[in-house]
Amino acid sequence: MILGHKYEVVVVGAGPAGLMAARELAKQNIDYLLIDRKKEIGLPLKCAEGVREKEFYEIFGEGQYDFIRNRVHRHEVIYEEVKRVFYADFLQISRPDFEKWLGRGLVIELECVCEDIFVKSDRVEITTSRGKVSAEIVIMCSGCNYELLKNSTLVRKISRTIPAFGGLYKNHGLDPSAFYYYYDKDYLGYFWIFPKNKDVASIGFGGIPAWPWHQANIGAILKKFLAKYGINPELVQNYGGPIPCSGPVKRPYSDRLLLAGDAAGFVVAMSGEGILYALKSGRYAARSAAGALKNKRFDNRSLMIYGKVCDDDFGRRMKNGIISYRLFTLACRSGILKYAIKNVSVKKVKDLIMD
Ligand SMILES: Cc1cc2nc3c(=O)[nH]c(=O)nc-3n(C[C@H](O)[C@H](O)[C@H](O)COP(=O)(O)OP(=O)(O)OC[C@H]3O[C@@H](n4cnc5c(N)ncnc54)[C@H](O)[C@@H]3O)c2cc1C
Repeated sequence: MILGHKYEVVVVGAGPAGLMAARELAKQNIDYLLIDRKKEIGLPLKCAEGVREKEFYEIFGEGQYDFIRNRVHRHEVIYEEVKRVFYADFLQISRPDFEKWLGRGLVIELECVCEDIFVKSDRVEITTSRGKVSAEIVIMCSGCNYELLKNSTLVRKISRTIPAFGGLYKNHGLDPSAFYYYYDKDYLGYFWIFPKNKDVASIGFGGIPAWPWHQANIGAILKKFLAKYGINPELVQNYGGPIPCSGPVKRPYSDRLLLAGDAAGFVVAMSGEGILYALKSGRYAARSAAGALKNKRFDNRSLMIYGKVCDDDFGRRMKNGIISYRLFTLACRSGILKYAIKNVSVKKVKDLIMD
């Protein structure tokens, strides 16, 4: 990191979105700076590590990747005695290993906090814990850390988030060839078990109580779910964090600024999936930044293309995520969730969630 230097692009945050953006910038020989406040790429783990197989391979190509722990086709949705089965190809990865792989060959400034960004007519000034730098354009991949965006008043309406909490567990006792989703009328969210193998699984809960008077401690909710279904695994390591649930921000771009991944709200509201859209939007943001540098045009109209490319690729899935989340909330609050799970058609689930 060269203090006082004007980079072509500064990327804030080295999660999937930022790493993907930096990979693309490096490929195009752009003078970039990638910073992150954490100590080590991929850590601490804050994710259940499930990702759609087909689109993942479309990005990276099919292959034997060491960070893939499991492949599943079967998804079991459970509500007490009701069980429905849906099919879709998903991978269970080790996200720390994946992010390390993604960041190979990149120059990353770790333990470097972005404290402020200030957009000027001829550059963006970035204040970090190590000092100031500037850039033609900034790609914000800072996840759910919306303080930074709020303080800089660059985004008027930030995403709403829901809490998610879980961990890696041993002895889950379930068939590792499926992912399991448990629902309950008392919670707007779901409890997941994503096995990595016959021994270890990622287990967690993301959501909020359906009514305010219910137990709101997310760790206690997870314990209650496990007890209800007689699952008694051994905790290896906890993880947790917020998940954006209100869909994409209206405009993920403004003068000299692009938002990617969670920072832009690119998460499927119903499922909480964000890895794929962080990867895609990170790459699109870098390509749009490269185009802006080539044309020397950094105003928001010239960056509009970025919003359009994201919308064309995964806008429909984001909208479907919001629709399914609203339907789910309605079913939960009106007491018909169990009936809805029992009777929803496979086609509807495929249209709204799986495809
Ligand atoms: C408990 C949980 C389970 C999840 N499970 C899944 C799942 O199974 N599948 C799925 O697809 N998605 C899942 N998600 C969502 C997924 O984790 C996110 O959508 C994804 O991580 C978004 O990537 P990102 O790069 O945008 O943000 P992040 O991965 O959050 O990365 C943001 C980075 O920015 C850095 N940063 C933040 N502020 C600053 C600053 N001021 N200065 C410098 N650096 C900064 C952070 O340190 C971080 O490294 C889950 C989320 C949670 C919380």
